[in-house]
Amino acid sequence: MSETTTKKTGRLIIVSNRLPMTVNMEEGKMTLGPSAGGLVSALGAYLERRQQDDTELAEYLWVGWPGNDIAEADQPLVRQHLRDEPGCDPVFLTAEVMDKFYLGFCNKTVWPLFHYFPTLTVYEEEMWKVYEAVNRQFCRVVAELVQPGDVIWIHDYHFMLLPAMLRECCPDNSIGFFLHIPFPAYEIFRLLPRKWAASLVEGLLGSDVVGFHTVDYVRHFLTAVLRLTGHQHQIGRVMFQGREIRVDAFPIGIDFEKYHETACLPKIRREADLIRRKLVQQKAILSVDRLDYTKGIAKRLRAYELFLERHPEWHQEVIMLLLVVPSRIGVDRYQDMRREIDELVGRINGRFGDIGWAPIAYLYKNLGLQALSSLYSAADVALVTPLRDGMNLVAKEFVASRTQDDGVLILSEMAGAARELPEALIINPNSREEMAEAIHQALVMPPGEQAERIRAMRDNVQRYDVHRWGWLFLHALQNLSAANQLTADKMLNEEKMANLVRQFALTNRRALIFDYDGTLVPLARTPEQAIPGEYLLRLLRALTAEQRNDVTIVSGRPREFLQQHFGDLRLTLVAEHGAWMKRRGGIWRKRVFPDNAWKPRILPLLEYYVERLPASFLEEKECSIAWHYRLSDAESAEFMAQELKFELTNLLLQTNMEVLEGNKVLEVRAKAANKGAAVLATLDDGNYGMILAAGDDWTDEDMFQVLPATAMTIRVGVRPTAANYLLADQQDLIALLEKLMMADLG
Ligand code: UDP
Repeated sequence: MSETTTKKTGRLIIVSNRLPMTVNMEEGKMTLGPSAGGLVSALGAYLERRQQDDTELAEYLWVGWPGNDIAEADQPLVRQHLRDEPGCDPVFLTAEVMDKFYLGFCNKTVWPLFHYFPTLTVYEEEMWKVYEAVNRQFCRVVAELVQPGDVIWIHDYHFMLLPAMLRECCPDNSIGFFLHIPFPAYEIFRLLPRKWAASLVEGLLGSDVVGFHTVDYVRHFLTAVLRLTGHQHQIGRVMFQGREIRVDAFPIGIDFEKYHETACLPKIRREADLIRRKLVQQKAILSVDRLDYTKGIAKRLRAYELFLERHPEWHQEVIMLLLVVPSRIGVDRYQDMRREIDELVGRINGRFGDIGWAPIAYLYKNLGLQALSSLYSAADVALVTPLRDGMNLVAKEFVASRTQDDGVLILSEMAGAARELPEALIINPNSREEMAEAIHQALVMPPGEQAERIRAMRDNVQRYDVHRWGWLFLHALQNLSAANQLTADKMLNEEKMANLVRQFALTNRRALIFDYDGTLVPLARTPEQAIPGEYLLRLLRALTAEQRNDVTIVSGRPREFLQQHFGDLRLTLVAEHGAWMKRRGGIWRKRVFPDNAWKPRILPLLEYYVERLPASFLEEKECSIAWHYRLSDAESAEFMAQELKFELTNLLLQTNMEVLEGNKVLEVRAKAANKGAAVLATLDDGNYGMILAAGDDWTDEDMFQVLPATAMTIRVGVRPTAANYLLADQQDLIALLEKLMMADLG
């Protein structure tokens, strides 16, 4: 992997809830301290390295809350100081706002719901409004700072509305979003009021890249996109409001070197030895978490209790080092949890312990890197059993700290990290039995097996560290922005349109080729509803009346339809994607002769799918059959479409038919019936000074690809395309036709 990508001069603007430092004001005196939290430390390490490497976007600016309610009078001083020195821009939020925003919508609505605790989720309109308002406030701050070429990287669930807000203020900047918690399955996500859910999804789609920890979260998000906006994805790419958005998994890593090197320090080794000596002959099981209901601490303790019950042989010989880090102090639920843990520890120690031995050593505090590293090194087993966790860095930090090729990791399958660490003993945190047995298995695991597993995991953690994570994300963001820029460059703006019309006016022989549905007329719910209006017919009549124009309509429609509506116009008509053609003033001729045996073989299968999927229907043509599902339930339709496509592909092997997937339609058609070949045939009889071709979907790409490079090819609807111009929608094409007509008149 190379660190070199196209050089850009902009800065990287990081947006997160907390700034990397906390500001304290006491009697007009300002002090700065580091902020706690995994996100800040992971990102900090990544940004520091970037700066040292002096790579592109090495200059960064961090936008976030300074950690305390700063009085209005002190705000200018704090802002000035943070801007001058550590490159931070504070967003001031009062304690009252933080209460509804951070402790409210973020941690009483999104946090529990996204971690699959619907019963703990609070739905309060007032909190939602404050969430929106804070996102808006961040948007204003970023919009004021941002310069052309800056890349904005937004972090986490506090700012899911921000990407779309920023897209409006600074449409040309690259915007990336990374979610550090799980994205839940749609059945959970839909518990949010629809207005909120749709706003969150559309908010995220304001980004160029939306990143998650695992492919499961990616899948869940894409389902939510489909269900709430109707937009399908193509291998993780969604077209939304004229932009391509990439949705992908970028599992966050740790600063491997930092953890590994710390564990190798003689001081830490001594410290770890000391801990081991204090434990005498006991094996140590380490448990480290923030105090949070998602971490499953109580269930873990109950599983340990079961282990002690079932394995008395381990009494006196094992100890659990239980480290719980204070978190979100003040929230009632957290106080209750603390009480529950205290009681459980007391009960287990009372039940199994004696004067010389307590099965649990409990610490309720936050340790620094070195103290934590000594524990990671001293322990024999790490017991990481969250009920749900976006990633879980403790698991990776433990692995990175094992410098002697020993130690066992027991890991919950509900942690994102389980996807990357399959060599751990994977357990279900809801099963006391599984956890108790895994503890036993870990304690008796032979050294050879421990070494094999820990080495494999360490290699993984080392390779996919936080630097690689950051690089992969920004690389994806920059690549996609470049692709979106290419698309933006193709837009047929007023200036380009004026040039095109001027050139048209100066040209003698012109071939004008138009697709029908979605190009000459808007897409309708059913094919029967899309009939040409009087205005379109007048336009076409005017264009065909001009001797210099040869106009062709190239459609997937059956020839009867084209004949009925356009038969009396001086046009060339191509039906069924090129299977039939009628030259100006001529008669219909068949161009493609499909295998006669195909229809009876295919039709029953298609009819079976019509039966299975409500609101889907068939459109039967001579050389093709289309199964339309735009009116059906989006998710079932997508699923069945894939199933049907698979069945059809197998059925059509070694025939001259093929199956093609369009916009909410699957079509079986003769291979030779494609618009490219047909359009070339229409150009046979003329030496054209200008070829202009317009179409709106995948079948039109065939014609864009075969036309000479000098042709003016226009795709209606913004998408990646082989055409050289893009128009935003069908009305713009009609406007272009008006201009062409006027050019001839005047
Ligand atoms: N941690 C810490 N001090 C402690 C215990 C833990 O700084 O006493 C850190 C730990 O090193 C890890 C983070 O807290 O980086 C916890 O991250 P994780 O992803 O495991 O859980 P989160 O708290 O983010 O849900």
